[in-house]
Amino acid sequence: MTSQAVHKLRDCLVSKIHQLNWVEENAQTRDERAVEARRQRLREITAALDLLDHGRYGICEDCGEEIKPGRLKAVPWATRCVACQTEQEVRTSPFVPEEASRVFHDHRSV
Ligand SMILES: [Zn+2]
Repeated sequence: MTSQAVHKLRDCLVSKIHQLNWVEENAQTRDERAVEARRQRLREITAALDLLDHGRYGICEDCGEEIKPGRLKAVPWATRCVACQTEQEVRTSPFVPEEASRVFHDHRSV
């Protein structure tokens, strides 16, 4: 990645942080889930900035594969590839029944 691209990306991530902080301060509703979602997003963006500083941006933190450019364009703070992110969500979501996560794993190992 060129230093210009890194610079642009950093600007984009930082402005996203400002945006989230602004929403945090000005939000009318105190919906706990929305607050938690914003905090989670802030953590992700901070992590992405950290990776950017260490030249590890765009590399999946789970499998070490490069994250597809299309995904990074849509989700600039992505720290995992689609497969690992989905797996992570399945693993951490209390709403996904045991059965569904097993099906997912079986599917992946094929
Ligand atoms: Zn991965």
